[in-house]
Amino acid sequence: MPLPPFNEKHAIEIASQYYGLTVKAEKLGGDIDCNFLLTTPKGKFTLKIHALETQREEIEFQHAALQHLSGFDGVPRVIPSKDGEEFFETALPAVPDGEIPATTAAEDGDGSTGKKDEYLVRMFSYIEGNLLENIVPKSQNLLRGLGAYIAELDIALENFSYPAVQRSDTLWDLSLAHLVIEPRLKFLSLRDSSTVEAISTAERETATSQERAPRRDMAEKVLARFKRRVLPILPDLRKQVIHSDANMQNLLVQDGVISGILDFGDLCYAPLIFEVAICAAYALLSENDPLETTAHLVAGYHSLIPLTATEISLIYDLICARLAVSASVSSAREGDERYGAYHQASANAAWEALEKLLAVDAEDATLIIGAMCPPRRSSQTEASRKQERLTPQAILQKRKEYLNPALSISYENPLHIVRGQGQFLYDTEGKSYLDCVNNVCHVGHSHPRVVAALAGQAAALNTNTRYLHENIVRLAERLTATMPKPLSVCFFTNSGSEANDLALRLARVYTGERDMLVLEGAYHGNLSSLVEISPYKFDGKGGTGAPSWVHKLAMPCSYRGIFRGSKNPVEQYALQAQEKIDAADGIAAFISEAMIGTGGQVVFPEGYLAEIYARTRAAGGVCIADEVQHGFGRFGAHFWGFQSHGVTPDIVTLGKPMGNGHPLAAVVTRPEIAAAFNNGMEYFNTFGGNPVSCAVGLAVLDVIEEEGLQENALRAGAKLKAGLLELMDSYPLIGDVRGEGLFLGIELVRDRSTLEPATVEAYRLEEGMLARQILLSVDGPLHNVIKIKPPIVFSEADAARLVRELDDVMGNLF
Ligand code: PMP
Repeated sequence: MPLPPFNEKHAIEIASQYYGLTVKAEKLGGDIDCNFLLTTPKGKFTLKIHALETQREEIEFQHAALQHLSGFDGVPRVIPSKDGEEFFETALPAVPDGEIPATTAAEDGDGSTGKKDEYLVRMFSYIEGNLLENIVPKSQNLLRGLGAYIAELDIALENFSYPAVQRSDTLWDLSLAHLVIEPRLKFLSLRDSSTVEAISTAERETATSQERAPRRDMAEKVLARFKRRVLPILPDLRKQVIHSDANMQNLLVQDGVISGILDFGDLCYAPLIFEVAICAAYALLSENDPLETTAHLVAGYHSLIPLTATEISLIYDLICARLAVSASVSSAREGDERYGAYHQASANAAWEALEKLLAVDAEDATLIIGAMCPPRRSSQTEASRKQERLTPQAILQKRKEYLNPALSISYENPLHIVRGQGQFLYDTEGKSYLDCVNNVCHVGHSHPRVVAALAGQAAALNTNTRYLHENIVRLAERLTATMPKPLSVCFFTNSGSEANDLALRLARVYTGERDMLVLEGAYHGNLSSLVEISPYKFDGKGGTGAPSWVHKLAMPCSYRGIFRGSKNPVEQYALQAQEKIDAADGIAAFISEAMIGTGGQVVFPEGYLAEIYARTRAAGGVCIADEVQHGFGRFGAHFWGFQSHGVTPDIVTLGKPMGNGHPLAAVVTRPEIAAAFNNGMEYFNTFGGNPVSCAVGLAVLDVIEEEGLQENALRAGAKLKAGLLELMDSYPLIGDVRGEGLFLGIELVRDRSTLEPATVEAYRLEEGMLARQILLSVDGPLHNVIKIKPPIVFSEADAARLVRELDDVMGNLF
């Protein structure tokens, strides 16, 4: 089907005549349709002009799907004409005299006079973004995000039904790949493409199969495998309506995240696995390692739509088939002037990719592609779960009926989040949220590597520490390797609270004392023993104050603390601490985070922690570092928060990020303390240290290391902090920006000298940012600190987006 002969002037004329718009027009690429970007002072649109052969039913089908997807991020909306028509027929319009734009004059011929032919015209909203095609190489995160994005689209399309529509153009129907490749083999009989270019179509059609060439060999190999391995299984595959053309020119990226998908012209009812295979066939072009590229993309897709082993086993052949279709169609069209250069450009890349893929054994390739896809028993799990979904109102009602209201919920209109991927959360409508809050899913929500480790070990064995197993000792070895030398003995628990409770027991057995030194505003867990040492709880609503054996030290906050601005705040805080120590009945331990999270990312004056550690030890106590919030590289410059204070604790407690969402926590201590604890009373923890949890812990450490996430936290954190500090110039409301790496706080005040807390403003800002699909949280004793602690895959682009949106929302609100 040749391209309709429209140029920019025709587009301008159509926009004016049918849409009442005065536009500037720019021609865009297209294979069978003629596309234009229209710019008006009010916004941008795209105009699509189809050849006459395009079936009206196909367009109606696409528009119904777009209507169905109207709540989905990044999908174009149809713009009706002045007469309210979603599409209409027109002839090539007469355009005013003048020069035809040089880019189109040659290929379109003289467009200044109307032709009899009728064409179909429609207009869409323009989706902002950079074409994914322009991003090479694509990062692992981007590929996973891409896989997840197309899976989201397929989930949104899952229950879209429409009367069967026959595709008029079967060229790109992957189930018919054999019927496309086979008749084009004859065009591939010549030695290389330069020879092909030099000869006419007629000559090429007469080329004989004796003139064998590597490209023909490749196409034949793909064809044979397609017929043998794919065709027989096609009828049994699960099918639905899919986009089926997620190529890199149809996908948009903004701030490093897939932001949109265009061109629903190939929409069809087809095996679901085609979606991911087609996308992969284009994503891998120009990438160094096509199989690794595919594996990350497939892992992203699989994390939302679990693929069956059969589906995964077909991906390699489907990708090869799509590449062979694309390459052989282009080769057959070479030199044919009726077609644009749209497909020619990617033909060589397709042949090259095919060559790389065919050099790998198909079975090996499938293993690589599926390596990051944990097996799922039922591919329908997600679908059936979806049908069981309750409305938000029903969930709220059931929470009221069956759960305790002491469980709080974020936001005025609570979010119903059903999926997570990287630093993003998705609600039931597929709407994405940039997650700047969840430091538990540390290496990214549902990281496929962690999920695979969990599922793989759960499928093999899960017991307890009374049997020998490699996982627990491997994890203990890996963890202690990250810590200063004396910290060499591990205990595994299921939560940060359990870890802190055990730390208290260790300290008490070792010192023979009970009294504790704690920091004002601190929180250490939900067990009775920990509420007693958590001023955040015992001083808060419903709290009953500190027990006699708990000694609270003033919050050593550099911004708001009682000794702020003094010449030597550390000395003053230390003297106060010494008074408490002297008044105590012996000291078992001092417990502290490296920054008080619940205090609102409270940063200590330099040297504070070292001073209190020294005084605690001088009093016979031990020092506990609560790393439940901070550990595992979040601070960027160091793997553990205490390292940023230059201290070595006696006991370290770990939690949240350690299992990336799986309940896994630990205590690490010195051998003498562990030895004192071994007093005859067995320590048994049913779940603590089980093979599954330890497999998860190992996978988290692997991912942090292999994906360079500590370094990322340093880079993205620095960029974010710099951006937030800059905002202080525009907004006096921002009293302080503080923190390290990806553990930052913004303290809002109504007056920078009185430090009057801007509590209401903090919650309004939180809600305002929610409207921009960015999740933040408010904390601190005065409820005026915006806390930022995202999964540490949070990128520099995310940092830029967060600052930009904060600027915009604050500009509108305050
Ligand atoms: N310590 C700190 C510093 C915490 O922030 C928390 C949890 N917010 C805990 C301990 C308790 O961890 P968990 O909720 O896993 O019991």
